Amino acid sequence: MVETSCSKGVRLPVGKIVCVGRNYEAHAREMKAQRPTEPLLFLKPSTALVLGGGQVQLPEWSSDIHHEIEMVVRIGQGGARLDAAGAARAVDAVAVGLDLTARDIQAEAKANGSPWAVAKGFDGAAPLGPLLSVGPGESLGRRDLELRVSGELRQQGSTADMIWTVEELIVYISARFRLEPGDLIFTGTPEGVGPLRRGQRAVARLTGCEPLEIVCS
Ligand code: MN
Repeated sequence: MVETSCSKGVRLPVGKIVCVGRNYEAHAREMKAQRPTEPLLFLKPSTALVLGGGQVQLPEWSSDIHHEIEMVVRIGQGGARLDAAGAARAVDAVAVGLDLTARDIQAEAKANGSPWAVAKGFDGAAPLGPLLSVGPGESLGRRDLELRVSGELRQQGSTADMIWTVEELIVYISARFRLEPGDLIFTGTPEGVGPLRRGQRAVARLTGCEPLEIVCS
């Protein structure tokens, strides 16, 4: 079983990873998608996680793995059909993560009306940085996101630009997937997504959190 630990040392099992697509308008635009009218959700299996970063082996069946830097929150106190107050207490830790995406496979899936499971859920598709504990009800505030690939600035954004806040997402998600302690939510990426190549080093930063560093092989 995959477990995560946070800065306070609380270990929790990862039951599921819920991801939000198109939660930043400029990213929806670069993907030639409309601003969504409700959150777009998909799942990654816990086997996609690369905890703390390090080596990520890019799959050989894709020739276009993209980086998407995202703020990730861990659920400490879950539940089904949470209201705004429940959602505000739900998060116990925050980290920076990468929603790695096989863009070529995803484009094929979109064209065929097929699921994104492989494009988004392969082994290594969810590198996650160290989790910083947050108190129940503590505001996550606005945090800056920055991704550099082999030193080059690729993505820069602010969680203030999210279409749906973390609390709004938790209300929406928990009405569909009961959230359990240890579940992770990838909250969407700002614009600037692009390819990662073997041999490249990516460093992802989120205000207040320790950075995440991966090396692609
Ligand atoms: Mn994403």
